[in-house]
Amino acid sequence: MQNPMHISSWNGRIDFDRKHIWHPYTSMTEPLKAYPVESASGVFIRLGDGRELIDGMSSWWAAIHGYNHPVLNQALYEQTTAVSHVMFGGLTHRPAVDLAQLLIGLTPPSLDRIFFCDSGSVAVEAAMKMALQYQQAQGATTKTKFLTVRSGYHGDTWGAMSVCDPVLGMHWLFQGMLAEQFFAQAPQCRFGDPWDEEDIADFKKLINRHSDEIAAVILEPVVQGAGGMHFYSPEYIKRVRKLCDEHSVLLIFDEIATGFGRTGKMFAMEHAGVVPDILCLGKALTGGYMTLAATLTTDKVATGISEGGGVFMHGPTFMANPLACAVAQTSVNLLIEDSWEAKVRRIEALLKDQLLDCLDLPGVADVRVLGAIGVVETKCPVDMEKIQKQFVDQGVWIRPFGQLIYVMPPFIIEEDHVSQLTGAIKDTISRGDMWKC
Ligand SMILES: *Cc1c(COP(=O)(O)O)cnc(C)c1O
Repeated sequence: MQNPMHISSWNGRIDFDRKHIWHPYTSMTEPLKAYPVESASGVFIRLGDGRELIDGMSSWWAAIHGYNHPVLNQALYEQTTAVSHVMFGGLTHRPAVDLAQLLIGLTPPSLDRIFFCDSGSVAVEAAMKMALQYQQAQGATTKTKFLTVRSGYHGDTWGAMSVCDPVLGMHWLFQGMLAEQFFAQAPQCRFGDPWDEEDIADFKKLINRHSDEIAAVILEPVVQGAGGMHFYSPEYIKRVRKLCDEHSVLLIFDEIATGFGRTGKMFAMEHAGVVPDILCLGKALTGGYMTLAATLTTDKVATGISEGGGVFMHGPTFMANPLACAVAQTSVNLLIEDSWEAKVRRIEALLKDQLLDCLDLPGVADVRVLGAIGVVETKCPVDMEKIQKQFVDQGVWIRPFGQLIYVMPPFIIEEDHVSQLTGAIKDTISRGDMWKC
């Protein structure tokens, strides 16, 4: 159902977009195609030409309740008429306090201090800064580096970039410019497989050898997202917690992607029952409405930084933006009241049922499902523009990268629509002409 009038109203804008606007990780001279979106509602994204796509991405982990949600809309509107924004220096407001209370109640009891910021990457910067300020305040002045695992992703800002995977990340572009950190081998023991003690050996070796230089360990618990969509054994982070304690190294969990139910637990760390010293939240925090993130920490770290007149040196302009906080509070409450666990478990069952047999298709290297995340890993990298068009033609929004075709739909998705997502993946792979090798 293409509407020619809509197309013509978009043509000039699409040209302007291609010439002037940067999209994520793209060239300005050879940009990838960007599809115009007219509106989005529920699980559907409506394109400029009238076509409707079933959303398989939740706009990068964020839109867990789907789009144009009446309850979130109402919360946003109501907050707009009260106060849209005021500086957080010297002022506070109800949405910030209420959201802080909600998040502190939802996370493990020891995490009871919160810092609001404006994006996930900034939450990671704040977490790293907290760890460094804490160690400096303890007099551990040589503890200035971070230990992490390979295949991680923590954002695109300077500090965050330094702890992203050194091969898949952007280290090669900024060689000698980024802070040098320690990288242990990525966890190999898969989620659900028997634990192999050998898996922690490299990490153990590094922390044993360099603990005097390490302020904190940072990692994504259980699910490594943009660095390869790996699901690893929760035992790994139990070992990490113990080693950190033995070496007076802080532990930072980046749950920006995994937080708020995506992996089948409210937070992925619950798979292991491990509590970090610092926790980063973002992405689904506002149900995908606007950008907001938070860094939570313990009394020990907060007091450590603040004792003797210390202050935590960070303060974004839009810190604790009332609109974002109001929507976040409503989104988290919606999640809690809305039997999220059953919804995620049902999506998990459907994805397992419908995706696991992709393993029999040519060109497929691996298939894995955890919570509301389904991943098909291919043997060759996909031809992004070609495969994107193929998916759009089939009425679904799935955006693969590298060798990963994956879905993480809004939790409100219905069974038929999950089937359309998985059906489109199978059809597209079966064509066999989507690869770049
Ligand atoms: C997306 C992501 C970030 C960065 O968040 P932004 O809001 O894009 O800055 C950091 N860590 C993880 C695990 C993420 O998935």
